[in-house]
Amino acid sequence: MPSLGEVVAALEGRYDPRWAEPWDAVGLVCGDPDTDVRRVHLAVDPVLAVAEEAITAGAQLLVTHHPLFLGGTTSVAATTAKGRVVHRLLAAGCGLFVAHTNADVADPGVSDALAGALGLRDLRPLRPGAAEPVDKVVTFVPAADVDRLLDALAVAGAGTIGHYDRCAFLVEGAGTFRAGAGTNPTVGRPGEVTRTPEVRVEMVAPRARRSAVVRALLDAHPYEEPAYDVIELAAPPGSRGLGRVGELAEPMTLSEFTAHVARSLPETAWGVRAAGDQRRPVRTVAVCGGSGGDLAVTAARAGADVLVTADLKHHATSETIEDHVVALVDAAHWATEWPWLEQVAAYLTTGDGERGTDTVEATVSRIVTDPWTVHAHQKEL
Ligand SMILES: [Zn+2]
Repeated sequence: MPSLGEVVAALEGRYDPRWAEPWDAVGLVCGDPDTDVRRVHLAVDPVLAVAEEAITAGAQLLVTHHPLFLGGTTSVAATTAKGRVVHRLLAAGCGLFVAHTNADVADPGVSDALAGALGLRDLRPLRPGAAEPVDKVVTFVPAADVDRLLDALAVAGAGTIGHYDRCAFLVEGAGTFRAGAGTNPTVGRPGEVTRTPEVRVEMVAPRARRSAVVRALLDAHPYEEPAYDVIELAAPPGSRGLGRVGELAEPMTLSEFTAHVARSLPETAWGVRAAGDQRRPVRTVAVCGGSGGDLAVTAARAGADVLVTADLKHHATSETIEDHVVALVDAAHWATEWPWLEQVAAYLTTGDGERGTDTVEATVSRIVTDPWTVHAHQKEL
C-alpha cells in the first residue's frame, strides 16, 4: 500500500508543480505524507459536500483541480466553509492535494480529457508551452579520453533524450595549439605548434544543469585548458501547453456540434450554449477546460472552427462573433474539467508498478459542484 507521500510524488510526476502559474496554489494542502493510502477520491471543487463524499468513500486522499486556498489564509478554524473542509478531512484521516494550472498544461492534461470526451483526434496544444530549455555542450578531446568524459557528462545530467541516456555525437578531427610559457600541456611541448587528433563531442544538457555539466567537463577533460562551447538551443514546440486543437471524425453544423457537446459532458443546470452562425460547418475544434475565453483569437489562428470553453463574457463574445473569427461554445466550467478526473484515476490505478500506486482504488466524484443550479427560460415560465 503506497504512502500518501508516494501518491503525491506520482501525481507531481505527471503534474509538475513548477508548471503552475505563479499566482496558483497547488500541491498538498493538508495530510500526513506517512499515511497509508488505500483509496483516492477525485473531484473538481474542494467544497464541503465533496469532502463528505471522499470520507464516505473511505478515501485517505482527496485530489481536486481547484485550490482550497487560492487567495491565502491566516486561519483554518471551522468557523468558515474552507476551515470546515480542512477539519472534516483531517478528523477523518483524509488529505487534500491540488493540481490546477499545472494539470491544465500537462500532457496529457485537463484539455486532453475534454477533447477526448468530445471525440477529437490528432490533438495538439492550442497555446504550446515552452519545452524545457536545453543547451548543447561541445568539446574536443583525445580519443582515449572520450568514454571517461561521456560518463562524467552523463552523470552531471547531459546526454538524455527521451528514454535514452548518455547520447552523444562524435566526429574525429584534429586540434592545433601552441602552449605558452609556464604551461604543462598533456600533448606537445611549450612554445611549439602542436597538431593532434581529437574527437569533437556534442551532447545536449538541460539548461538548469549547465554549471554542473561544465564543472564535470573541466574535471574529466585531460587538458590544462579545455576548449568547449555551450550553445543555447532554440526551444522546439513542446507537447505541453494550454488548450488543445483536434479534429472531429465527421464535420457537423455548429448547432449539431453544440448538442454533441451537451451529450458528451456531464449535465448541469447551465447546459451548453453557442455563439455564431448555427449552420456554420465545424470540423477543427479548439478546447480549453475552465475559463479559456481569451484563447478565441489563438483558436482562430490555429485554424479552429469553434472554441469550446467556459465563463465567456458578453463583449468579447460579441466582438469575436461580429468579426466571424471563430464560433464559441460556452459550457459549465465544472463540466469542462470533470473529464480530467477519470484520466487521473486511470493514471493512478494502472501501470506496471513503476509509480507504486497501482494498488490504490480511485473513485470519481458524482456531485455536480457547478455553482449555477437554477436555469429558467422565459417560455417555460
Ligand atoms: Zn477551473
